[in-house]
Amino acid sequence: MPPRSAKYGEIPDEIDHRLVKALKERGIERLYSHQSEALKAVLAGENIVVVTPTASGKTLTYNLPVLDSILKDSSTRAMYIFPTKALSQDQVTEVHEFINTIGEDIKTYTYDGDTPSSARRIIRSAGHIIVTNPDMLHTGILPHHTKWMRLFENLKYVVVDELHSYRGVFGSHFANVIRRLKRICKYYGSSPQFLFASATIANPQELAARILDDDVSCIDDNGAPCGSKHFIFYNPPVVNKELGIRRSSILETKSIGELFIANKVQSIIFARSRLNTEILLTYMREAAKARHIPMDAIRGYRGGYLPRQRREIEEGLRKGEVLSVVSTNALELGIDIGRLDVAIISGYPGSVASTWQQAGRAGRRSSTSAAILVGTSSPLDQYIMANPEYFFGSSPESGFINPDNLIILLSHIKCAAFELPFVDGEKFGPDTFIEILQFLEEERILRHVGGKWYWMCEAFPAEQISLRTASTDNVVIIDTTKEARVIGEVDRFGAFTMLHDEAIYIHEGQQYYVERFDYKEKKAYVKQVDVDYYTDAELAVSVRVMDVFKEENQESFIKAFGEVVVTAVPTIFKKIKLHTHENVGWGHIHLPEQELHTTAFWLTIPEEFEESFSKEELQSGLLAVANLFVNIAPLYLMCDPADIKVFAEVRSPFTERPTIYLYDKYPGGIGLAEKLYSIEELLIEAALDLTKACQCEAGCPSCVGPLNEIGQSGKRVAIALLNNILNREDMYGSER
Ligand SMILES: [Zn+2]
Repeated sequence: MPPRSAKYGEIPDEIDHRLVKALKERGIERLYSHQSEALKAVLAGENIVVVTPTASGKTLTYNLPVLDSILKDSSTRAMYIFPTKALSQDQVTEVHEFINTIGEDIKTYTYDGDTPSSARRIIRSAGHIIVTNPDMLHTGILPHHTKWMRLFENLKYVVVDELHSYRGVFGSHFANVIRRLKRICKYYGSSPQFLFASATIANPQELAARILDDDVSCIDDNGAPCGSKHFIFYNPPVVNKELGIRRSSILETKSIGELFIANKVQSIIFARSRLNTEILLTYMREAAKARHIPMDAIRGYRGGYLPRQRREIEEGLRKGEVLSVVSTNALELGIDIGRLDVAIISGYPGSVASTWQQAGRAGRRSSTSAAILVGTSSPLDQYIMANPEYFFGSSPESGFINPDNLIILLSHIKCAAFELPFVDGEKFGPDTFIEILQFLEEERILRHVGGKWYWMCEAFPAEQISLRTASTDNVVIIDTTKEARVIGEVDRFGAFTMLHDEAIYIHEGQQYYVERFDYKEKKAYVKQVDVDYYTDAELAVSVRVMDVFKEENQESFIKAFGEVVVTAVPTIFKKIKLHTHENVGWGHIHLPEQELHTTAFWLTIPEEFEESFSKEELQSGLLAVANLFVNIAPLYLMCDPADIKVFAEVRSPFTERPTIYLYDKYPGGIGLAEKLYSIEELLIEAALDLTKACQCEAGCPSCVGPLNEIGQSGKRVAIALLNNILNREDMYGSER
């Protein structure tokens, strides 16, 4: 990508001279064109969404109008919403520095779960800018709006940064939180303008407008300069032709990372999981040690590290003291770590937008930078490696939300009714709104009196509703090596596979042996160890159908969509040797099962097909097709790959036939399964294309899955099965 020079725009005349002076003191004589354009649009009263890459001076597009407005009228209030606590802390620092340059009394406060209660009252009454996150807005601000009268009466701007992260479940919840926010503002007589900022996605304007339910102007012509950049797709070599197995992307990432460490080039390495982050960190530290580079120059970064630790690593990166950082996607969002020379992405992060965000961590204003995407053997990665035009083309994926998901909507109608009684004729979301109010009245949660719907329950609804997929009740990890001390936290679902008894938990490159996992008390007791393996847990899953919403007999298969209960129980863990990834032992896990009520799409195979194969062959084929489906689905659903799960069985107790289930990994579902029901043919076609294009003989991790998991006949039966479903003849199909 060639270097790009800056494009500039005017600072509008009506901007307060104190602000113009402060900009000059900070070395900003002119604005970039997108900053100027955004400022003019906001001054004209429009809602905006600014879509420019990482580090293009995006924050000025909202800080300028907000500060200008407060300078002109000190009663003005603004609210900044960032998706995570870490990001808000970072932004507050930046705004503080800017305000210090202005030298006027403008008060900016963070209001989140960490805010001490003694400080809360003064923040509510005196803060000009309140910086918060969606969860706190949902449980800590909106339900207590009477205490926030000053804010809501004078709220002129609401800033929503990192718009693209409001997708799927989280985005659907967030749109409802915004509905509630607008409702409260209306009550207090204010009508704020919304200023969104987003990374590059296909439909920023549509997503912003869907969340806001109003018009939004899009500003996406970036005026910031950038040095030249190399974007490299690296597909590890095939090491086993028959099996189609490629060299481990982790080991390849390690070799590439070592090259930059040896040459003292500052880099960031993104790994796809916490476990991979820690494994890579161990490798990179070994590499640094061999070159007499201090250990502190190589750091790890992920959720679960304590805030103090994270601040220290961020600062080390900005100052250049940290030469390389290995991170999960926690550093993908706008936390300020300065600009690095190289970003190495170990495995496709699952979406085009995320990949660009991670790649955007590398790139200085004037010098050359590089981003390297290392492919894994997974089908999605191989699809991307083989189809670069999908990635570099003009249509990356869209942010997809469904604010009218019945369960999500119902939750927020309860919250909204608690906040202010609904009035007859009032709107909140879809046309079926009135039916939901009537339902809540029958349930004795609301009471309809004198044209208003009053909250009747004792309970405080927002507390019980999480905006995130991950549950909020975390497991605390306690190191008992010397004195007992807390070293981190893991969400409950993750804990069942990471912190079971005898697991090796890796934190900051240090291995810990889990002596006891007390799941009732949500505590795991660990001890430092030094072993040459890590552990990997397996889950046993079963699916029960509760209700069928839609069903269609397609002759060659039956497709259905409905409500299911998924039961998951961790069964065994494997000990896997570092470096070689050999399996060196295993053990049982004794933990209770967990249940998930959700929606699923399922596909049932006809009897004639079943008769042509042995039970083993059929088992292999079903597993193979299930693997293909779950890997390919994110290309069409535009969801997080972790949002959808698969389960296949040769004889489903419900359909009494071989059946493949794809289910939403979120209670109640977020419409993914329903969407799959309507695009099932695209999914089947893509699965068949990928399998036939793969050069392996009998199946491999890049198509149907590894041979030792799916068996020798997996690929053959999968092709026959997919052909049969699509009513097509094929040499494989006729061979049977
Ligand atoms: Zn293959």
